[in-house]
Amino acid sequence: MQKAPTQVKVVLLGDSGVGKSSLVLRFVADNFKNDADATIGASYMGKILQFNDKMIKFNIWDTAGQERYHSLAKMYYRDANAAIMVYDITKRDSFEGLKRWHKELQEFGPKDIVVTIAGNKEDLVETEAVPQEEAKEYSKSIGALYRKTSAKTNYGVEQVFRDIATKMCPDL
Ligand code: GDP
Repeated sequence: MQKAPTQVKVVLLGDSGVGKSSLVLRFVADNFKNDADATIGASYMGKILQFNDKMIKFNIWDTAGQERYHSLAKMYYRDANAAIMVYDITKRDSFEGLKRWHKELQEFGPKDIVVTIAGNKEDLVETEAVPQEEAKEYSKSIGALYRKTSAKTNYGVEQVFRDIATKMCPDL
């Protein structure tokens, strides 16, 4: 009999418009919308990935980036195993914003949370506003994994979740 999947709670952080909801929609439903609705509050989606003989169920929580929802932060981060901090590679501000998100994560998140930075909108790389080396440097400095993604083309999306699982369970 197949064993029940290991449950992993993942939260998404990052400024509004960087593509958090789009990344989740791509990962869970392999779909993309050019005019995605702004996320209100937090929404939940789940997906199971197979790793050799193990199954991991990702329980993904996506929240709006707006300040007014910060009061929900404590509840949002409770029992989270991993955080994906997303910025838009064409918007320098959204990269700078990661510092604030990381601060919040340190304040409210579990101490041993696995952190990944996703530089999203890789399909727009011609107008990249943050040198890749700088993004990698920053990720390293906070002990985070780093990957470029595109919710539009599906570049790197599943890999972000595979990275998280592998970091959490190195024997996968
Ligand atoms: P959120 O506010 O962080 O959840 O961002 P959304 O998922 O709502 O995306 C904001 C906008 O960026 C939408 O118009 C999306 O269609 C667009 N978008 C999201 N991901 C990508 C991507 O990888 N490439 C491109 N070109 N656009 C994207």
